[in-house]
Amino acid sequence: MNKNWHFDTQCIHAGYQPDPETQSRQVPLYMTSSFTFANTDEAAAVFNAEQEGYVYTRVNNPTNEVFEKRMAVLEGAEAGLVTSTGLSAVLLVLISLAQAGDEVVLSPRLYGGAYRQFWYHAPRMGIKPVWVDLDDPDGWEKAVTPKTRFIYLETPGNPTINIIDIAHVAQVAKKHGIPLVVDNTFCTPYLQRPIELGADIIIHSTTKYIAGNSTAMGGIVLGKKDYIDQVRIEDYRNTGPTASPFNSWLLLLSLETLPLRMDKHCSNARAIADYLEQHPLVDKVIYPGLASHPQHELARKQMRDFGAMIAFEVKGGMPAGKAFIDSLQLCSQVANLGDARTLAIHPASTTHQPLTPEQQLEAGISPGLVRFSVGIENPADIIADIDQALQATVQAGSSFVKQ
Ligand SMILES: *Cc1c(COP(=O)(O)O)cnc(C)c1O
Repeated sequence: MNKNWHFDTQCIHAGYQPDPETQSRQVPLYMTSSFTFANTDEAAAVFNAEQEGYVYTRVNNPTNEVFEKRMAVLEGAEAGLVTSTGLSAVLLVLISLAQAGDEVVLSPRLYGGAYRQFWYHAPRMGIKPVWVDLDDPDGWEKAVTPKTRFIYLETPGNPTINIIDIAHVAQVAKKHGIPLVVDNTFCTPYLQRPIELGADIIIHSTTKYIAGNSTAMGGIVLGKKDYIDQVRIEDYRNTGPTASPFNSWLLLLSLETLPLRMDKHCSNARAIADYLEQHPLVDKVIYPGLASHPQHELARKQMRDFGAMIAFEVKGGMPAGKAFIDSLQLCSQVANLGDARTLAIHPASTTHQPLTPEQQLEAGISPGLVRFSVGIENPADIIADIDQALQATVQAGSSFVKQ
């Protein structure tokens, strides 16, 4: 292994060399829950972390370990801890860094599951979530108190595709001596490297672009070796959010093509955003790669390319938004994102349906908003599908206007 290899080389090689026993070229799948010891002395030494070794897959596993090491190299982190899902990675961060009486400072534009974890479960553990006013340039600074244990954000945010200045928030965190945690799921380390911008801990839902094909659930926490080692022997070992080695094995296969896929995702998304922006049946297109995005310059600065998540407003409100989704043929209506297939969802009637119309607007979700996760199909086919579905909104929209 070579530290100087480029990103695409590391995607294929980091964290693994053919093992001396079998010379297996591909990473072997160690689908086992437990490992034997040569004798009681060795067992005691491994158990007490005086000697390296494997005990039980809840704590560590050779296949999981290759995935952890590879992701750490890609993010520029020292170490990683694989989890069963993205949300268990978020929970691990929460329980490892905060306890009753503490506060955590959060971006309000979070993935729904993460939002609910902080909003509902954190208070049940006596931890207070403090939501930042993103419209106030000093919002982050104002939200931090002596009780704050970490700052947590996602950028681009979900589902409004807003951009947060990671370097700025990292400065606030550093000034107060607390870690900045960034959920880098939408970008993957190929498009954005938050540690280089000053973040301390990275989490991912590897279910999305890292898997890339809607097969495996997964998550990971990445950070300094001391932190990761400590979490592994305490919170991780004691609460059991580990991943199946089979999922790590699938995710390692997918990682090999991450740069190729992300380039295609991004170029497709750009073509589709350009197409939507000039379409008479579309009101507003939110894509960081468009000059019309309010944080386009910031996105240029901190991202290598603009990703493949697009939000747009279909003219005609709720009925038009629903008619659009219902008329799609190639694109699927799915809650997932980051798939090779193009996926679409109408947040007002699905992911954010429990909110009141006022709360929806506050969260940036208008009745006609559609969230698109652009896949890697031929862009002409995606555009043709969007076009015919937009035509179907004309009737739905006009009947809405008449009511
Ligand atoms: C999907 C997602 C999560 C949650 O991950 P799961 O693997 O579904 O548990 C967290 N953050 C973001 C940005 C996501 O897209």
